Amino acid sequence: MAQYDYDLFTIGAGSGGVRASRMSASYGAKVAVAEERYLGGTCVNVGCIPKKLLVYAAHFAEDFEDAVGFGWTVGERQVDWTKLIANKDKEINRLNQVYRKLLEDSGVTIVESRAEIADPHTVLVGGKKITARYILVAVGGWPVVPKFPGSEHAITSNEAFYLPTLPKKVIIVGGGYIGAEFAGIFHGIGVEVTQLYWGPLFLRGFDDDCRTTLAEEMKKKGIDLRFNVDISKIEKRGGSLRATLNGDVNVDADQILYATGRVPNTGSLGLEKTSVRMKPDGSVMVDDYSKTDVDSIYAIGDCTNRMQLTPVAIAEGRAVAETLFNNNPMKPNYMNVPSVVFSQPNLGTVGLTEAEAREHYVSIDVYKTNFRPLKHTLSGRSERTMMKIVVDRATDKVLGCHMVGPDAGEIIQGLAVAMNCGATKAQFDATIGIHPTAAEEFVTMRTAVEPRI
Ligand SMILES: Cc1cc2nc3c(=O)[nH]c(=O)nc-3n(C[C@H](O)[C@H](O)[C@H](O)COP(=O)(O)OP(=O)(O)OC[C@H]3O[C@@H](n4cnc5c(N)ncnc54)[C@H](O)[C@@H]3O)c2cc1C
Repeated sequence: MAQYDYDLFTIGAGSGGVRASRMSASYGAKVAVAEERYLGGTCVNVGCIPKKLLVYAAHFAEDFEDAVGFGWTVGERQVDWTKLIANKDKEINRLNQVYRKLLEDSGVTIVESRAEIADPHTVLVGGKKITARYILVAVGGWPVVPKFPGSEHAITSNEAFYLPTLPKKVIIVGGGYIGAEFAGIFHGIGVEVTQLYWGPLFLRGFDDDCRTTLAEEMKKKGIDLRFNVDISKIEKRGGSLRATLNGDVNVDADQILYATGRVPNTGSLGLEKTSVRMKPDGSVMVDDYSKTDVDSIYAIGDCTNRMQLTPVAIAEGRAVAETLFNNNPMKPNYMNVPSVVFSQPNLGTVGLTEAEAREHYVSIDVYKTNFRPLKHTLSGRSERTMMKIVVDRATDKVLGCHMVGPDAGEIIQGLAVAMNCGATKAQFDATIGIHPTAAEEFVTMRTAVEPRI
């Protein structure tokens, strides 16, 4: 190994790169990681963490309203956006330092610079060549705004986290989870929100009942959610922006946020100098062990476009470290990966949607409930919670659990454990609930809705 400067050189200190680097070092490898922007990557700086902090901030609006029904007198309230962003930034800075310490304490060398690949065992950092037995590409992704007249006036989630002033009116374009989350954030903080999606219903890939329930709940809250619509041009008019929808309808806003997609950060990375294969979207092609077509180059996380989630990038990073430096070849497990849209209310999901289950199984049973949560009997809020279980009729195995309602993420996480253990509906039924909770509904749904097969 001494013929190389390092055993492992990781490009990108985000969720996946940090985990792979630290674990490899813990197995005795000599490791360096290059980071050109911020330690912790997207999740810590412009992703999960700042997003969730803003989701908390937004939800206070409803908490104050709901408190009145419980006897509280709630006075005048307003949000100080500058203070909120400053406090968020303070926490992000603290986390950047936590990541630095984690890497340093593991003995990983941090190279705060852009790195590019020169050949299968060499990276270029500031014109200097560094060699490594293995190179790990963990460069993540970057949001893009499609090109059309006036598209330069649009912002992405990256800028939304640092807006100097709170806009009065925002248009959000995109029907993915990031768009739905920012719609909830801005609406909760008091911004007038229009969310647009070009298709007939947003959140493609999630269970249809969850998609329709969330759309209804968001509209009830006052979010102007429009489907089958897209922006054809944006014009700057003094201090505001005018979006033309479908060629004829105009909507004015202070900011227009595009959450329509992210591309892998693989441009000019030097991969083209190797025989690593890429997909048309720029993502790196890898095998089950995250190895590319070049034996010494591995790739993990968002830049491989398998499942763009932090815990998945982390699992892939861990598997690479186990495979390369712990004599323990490991494939990441993509079974029953739970995920949540931190919209208001949350949408949580694990396993197959009803549509996927119908496609892959001969016959299924679907259990569904839709109710007004206990809290809202006093708060007066009309928000409803929807829960759903999808079961394989032949084996009784639970194939999917889905929920729209408060704390869906907290509830679905535990169900993912049960599903990974192969839980059956009978075992769900045999589990005693916690009363009174919303979660207990997952173990008390007894009657399948009319099977559609
Ligand atoms: C708004 C938003 C909200 C999200 N919310 C969630 C959520 O709630 N839950 C969840 O699980 N996931 C969420 N995600 C997704 C999650 O952030 C990503 O899946 C995760 O960060 C991917 O990790 P990664 O290691 O692949 O890449 P990243 O975390 O993006 O890290 C890549 C790093 O590589 C660096 N880099 C790139 N090129 C180079 C180079 N040439 N040289 C040196 N450094 C380089 C980048 O600066 C970056 O720091 C969210 C994403 C966004 C944008």
